[in-house]
Amino acid sequence: MPTAQLSKNQKIFDLLSEVMDPEIPVINVIEMGIVQEITLEDSSLSVTITPTYSGCPAMDMIANDIKEKLQDNGYTEVKIIEVLSPAWTTDMMTDEAKAKLKAYGIAPPNRSSSDESNPFGKPKECPNCSSTNTKLKSHFGSTPCKSLYVCSDCLEPFDYFKCH
Ligand SMILES: [Zn+2]
Repeated sequence: MPTAQLSKNQKIFDLLSEVMDPEIPVINVIEMGIVQEITLEDSSLSVTITPTYSGCPAMDMIANDIKEKLQDNGYTEVKIIEVLSPAWTTDMMTDEAKAKLKAYGIAPPNRSSSDESNPFGKPKECPNCSSTNTKLKSHFGSTPCKSLYVCSDCLEPFDYFKCH
């Protein structure tokens, strides 16, 4: 989001920073890179968001959570606009979000540009013991946007947040 827009809408920005991703409750929607634009005209507020995974059931929840948060704080006319372009990619996640993801036990998206046969990328390291010795168990983990890996050193299974 452009910085000029940010400073003008700092209060709204702060409120949005309190709205967490329903699937990853340690990361807020700003850190996820979902919020594209905030427009406040008179008393009507529009928030433009980009869906993460198309058809991701969490998106409706996120839109609702954002709306509720703003309405609870005095913004009565809130409109959530979902745009598909620019498409959200895991590259929009902030480094802070990726660090929080790891602390939460999920390996953050890690794109290996050299490996085009694997667009999902692969975990840099095990979120439990930081070993780089990890093995893919299943392309689908607890949700479709994650795959399941197992660490060959600490033997712990963990979710990897796929690149896309
Ligand atoms: Zn490990």
